[in-house]
Formats: sequence, structure tokens, C-alpha cells
Amino acid sequence: MNRRSFLQNSALTFGALTFGHKNFLKLLIEDPWKINMLTDEIGVFTERGGTIAFHFSKEGITVIDAQFPDTAPHLIAELKKRNDKPFRLLINTHHHMDHTSGNIAFKDIVTRVLAHENSLINQKNVAVAQKIEDKQFYPNETFGTVWTEHAGKEKFSLHYFGAGHTNGDAMIHLEHANIVHMGDLVFNRRHPFVDRSAGANIQSWMNVLDAAMKKFSNKTKFIYGHAETGYEVTGHKDDLQIFHDYLGNVLKFVGDEIKSGKTKEEILKTTQIPGSPEWKGDGIQRPLQAAFEELSAA
Ligand SMILES: [Zn+2]
Ligand SMILES: [Zn+2]
Repeated sequence: MNRRSFLQNSALTFGALTFGHKNFLKLLIEDPWKINMLTDEIGVFTERGGTIAFHFSKEGITVIDAQFPDTAPHLIAELKKRNDKPFRLLINTHHHMDHTSGNIAFKDIVTRVLAHENSLINQKNVAVAQKIEDKQFYPNETFGTVWTEHAGKEKFSLHYFGAGHTNGDAMIHLEHANIVHMGDLVFNRRHPFVDRSAGANIQSWMNVLDAAMKKFSNKTKFIYGHAETGYEVTGHKDDLQIFHDYLGNVLKFVGDEIKSGKTKEEILKTTQIPGSPEWKGDGIQRPLQAAFEELSAA
């Protein structure tokens, strides 16, 4: 055995011992992204950051969200392999960088970028503050409360029901398929980011979820921006109810703690939200802190 193949074999053996043989081989051959088709025309792409949705029609490809500059090209290459139509429209659910910094990868292949009017303002504010304006591909179309457009047999309806995760979150309803991209209005069993610097409000977020549950049916399929490991980035209305109740439990818990004289530091030491034990992992301080600030300001 020469030195090179010895090193390769050692690396393989070490890898096999560390990860388990099957998983290690999987790591070697599998792409870091996943595509899951929900219908013949609609699919979701996951790699890093917010879940992307896409729609094929004879009028072109519509993409909802764009993740990061290094992952968006993977999506674009995959879609080009599967469909020969041009990109007709890019929609952003909201301004956060794990949903919009990949817009730049579409700069030469799509002319229309659409988002809620507050999402555009927020994206500009962040880009100016972080001096990354040259890396943005901003929305050039915005909407206020509702926006609709047909593509093939699909009807896209965008809805804005008020502040939630930010003050600029759009829900994108593909009416024919009855699929709604919720963006980061739903973190499936995962502690959410509550972006108060961009107008987020937990009480209003609950109202937004109430409006969505009233608007959409029990058969509607939802796409979520993020999900905890072991949970899906798609699902049905019961996930919205569970997340709604989680937000209510956060507000109630923090409100009770404030009333009993606890300080912010004491509240932030909490490791589980009473009533929502299924939420695990990091990030619990973010909703606790947001709830504390929201209730203290009230
Ligand atoms: Zn996100
Ligand atoms: Zn977000």
C-alpha cells in the first residue's frame, strides 16, 4: 500500500468508526440540500436558512425565498435541471438574511422581486447598518395587505395580517394547490426569533396566526421557515395552533413571573416554557426576552 492510499484508507476507517459506516458513505455521496416535491408543480428546497418553495408553470418558475448567496445557486442549478422555463418571479416572505441574502444569485435571471412593503424597508435598514448594500437584490414590487397573480393554473395570493415575527411577514397562498408558505410566522416546535428591532410583537403574532387559521382550511398544507430537528418544515393547521399556544404560554409565563417580582435575569434562566414541554434546544432566551420587553413596554 502506498502512502497516499494508506492515508485515504485510514481516513475512511476513521470516518467509518466515527460516524458509522453507512452515514459516512452517505456524507460522501449526498448533496447538502434536499428537494421535496409536494405536487407535480410545487416543491420545497432545504439546505441552510429558511425553507424555499418553488412553482413550475408554462409561464415560468416562481421562487419563494432565497436563503444565502452560497446555497441559492444549488437551488437554481437543480431547478434548471428539472425545468426549462425562465424564472418569472422571486418572492420574499420577509427581510431576514437567511431568506433574502440569496436574492443576489437571481440578479441576472429574474426581473421581478416581490415582498411586503415593510420587508423592503427592513432589508434596506439592515443592509445600510451593516454596510452590505452592494450585496442586496432588493424587491422592486411591494404590497400592503393583499396581492394576487395567476401563473398557469395556479393563483398566487399574498396576505398580510399584521406584525408577527417582524412587521413585514407575507403569507403566500397557492390557491389551486391550497399550499401556504408561512415564512417565519411558524417555527415548527422550535424557539422562534422575535425581531423586535423590525417591529415584531408576540401578542400580534398570535392574532396573525388566528387570522390564518380562520382564513385557511383543514386541508391546507403549510410550509414553515424553520423546524426543530425531527420535525417537518411542512404540515397542517394543528401545527399553527400548537405554535399559537406556545406563544400564549410564553406571554403568560413571563407575565406571571414579572407579577411575582422576578427580574429579567431570573426569567432568562428558564429552561422550559410551562405548557409547551415539546420545545427543546437552544434559543429559549430570545422569546423570553422579547416577551419581557413587550410586557414591560405595555
Ligand atoms: Zn428564518
Ligand atoms: Zn426570520
